[in-house]
Amino acid sequence: MNGDVLDILKKYGLHITEARVNLLALFTSENNGLTHAEIEKLLGGQASRVTIYRTLQTFVKTGILHCVPTANSLILYALGKIDHPGNATPPDHAHFICESCGRTWCLEKIQVPPVELARGFVITKRDLILKGKCNHCKE
Ligand SMILES: [Zn+2]
Ligand SMILES: [Zn+2]
Repeated sequence: MNGDVLDILKKYGLHITEARVNLLALFTSENNGLTHAEIEKLLGGQASRVTIYRTLQTFVKTGILHCVPTANSLILYALGKIDHPGNATPPDHAHFICESCGRTWCLEKIQVPPVELARGFVITKRDLILKGKCNHCKE
């Protein structure tokens, strides 16, 4: 079993279940985000669709994972800043989308700049998306 995964679950005060461990292990070994379909494929029947869905919701709610914008408007899940447990605020960092392979990367060092809105407007999600070619697709 993956010690990193157990540490993360403990840090966030979540009970350790097989589904949570297996699902989170996918994210600690991949540095990019994963879609629900990719997760299902990678788990290869170890967990049902509903279990995967519920586990993802739990991880997003607690801030372990966050939803990331993608080129084809699929929902992609990525690891959040795991050193700050309990911080379930929406991600305030930029994302890079490769226009060739469609993968998304978290650019955690690039913050979304502060924006002033007119009275009565409320921000619920902050995204800064950079598009281009990743280091694998660049020729
Ligand atoms: Zn690429
Ligand atoms: Zn991100």
